[in-house]
Amino acid sequence: ATPTAVTVGIGRGAELGILVKNGESLEVSEKLTTILFDKTGTLTKGKPEVTDVLGIGVDEDSILQFAASVENNSEHPLGDAVVKKARERGRDIFKTKEFDSFGGKGVKAIVDDEGHSKTVFVGNRALFKEQKIPLDKKIEAEILKIENNGKTAVLIGINSEMEGIIGIADTLKEGTVAAIGELKRMGLKVAMITGDNQRTADAIAKQVGIDVVIAEVLPQDKAVQVKSLQDEGEVVGFVGDGINDAPALAQADVGIAIGSGTDVAIESGDIVLIKDDLQDSVAGLQLSRKVMGRIK
Ligand code: ADP
Ligand code: MG
Repeated sequence: ATPTAVTVGIGRGAELGILVKNGESLEVSEKLTTILFDKTGTLTKGKPEVTDVLGIGVDEDSILQFAASVENNSEHPLGDAVVKKARERGRDIFKTKEFDSFGGKGVKAIVDDEGHSKTVFVGNRALFKEQKIPLDKKIEAEILKIENNGKTAVLIGINSEMEGIIGIADTLKEGTVAAIGELKRMGLKVAMITGDNQRTADAIAKQVGIDVVIAEVLPQDKAVQVKSLQDEGEVVGFVGDGINDAPALAQADVGIAIGSGTDVAIESGDIVLIKDDLQDSVAGLQLSRKVMGRIK
């Protein structure tokens, strides 16, 4: 590659809000065969909202109150959504102790309900299985209904009993559908990776036109999934925003970080999309093709 063409490309990228940290990533971008997107905060806005509440032995507002009391200790976006909804419903947060977080599965705390201590788990199926809290058929059916709509089902267990379900939805970013379509037209394979469950992930993928879905991935395993695509011969671009995404951004042939994402992600990316617009991932690849075309 002639240094001049690359320098011009980097300059043009900067004008477009595409920060290219090194010339090499612009050269490799042209060779990408698969673009792998993180779901939450990358394809979606990452600002989930509670849409459904179902109480089993307890009323809906109490379910929200118990869940929010535990989630108040958490920094997860799902937790923020629960706390916000409980506040809207005018419910106070109970005091808690012994808060614990299970990466990619959920959270737990001992909640002080007016002098009564209750152990409350808030999370997904994997957490409930681990904690041996059984889910009957009727509950499974309710969970499926939520997931098939592309929402996340958050389960609430109190003292080892399944007590409620909270459905949480995240909205797609405006540019997502168009960007995916454009990348496919450019001949790239487009895939999605997420810690969220398979059904929710499949429903979202269908909405945006993504065919390959890697779901229920634990935070520490995203980079492993990138590596296994590379082992299959793919040249992988990974687009992500979160702390969890940093190792995958580093493992990818080109790591593309969302500018509004976490600092660790931005540091790990080779390219940063300043405007938080996925259309710029398309523009970045077109730019690299142009730059390399000029060189050849
Ligand atoms: P993502 O890849 O979507 O950012 P995470 O790895 O953060 O996903 O979480 C994966 C799954 O773990 C979530 O979809 C949810 O089911 C569960 N989970 C994680 N943290 C929490 C929490 N604080 N409250 C409820 N559920 C949680
Ligand atoms: Mg994310």
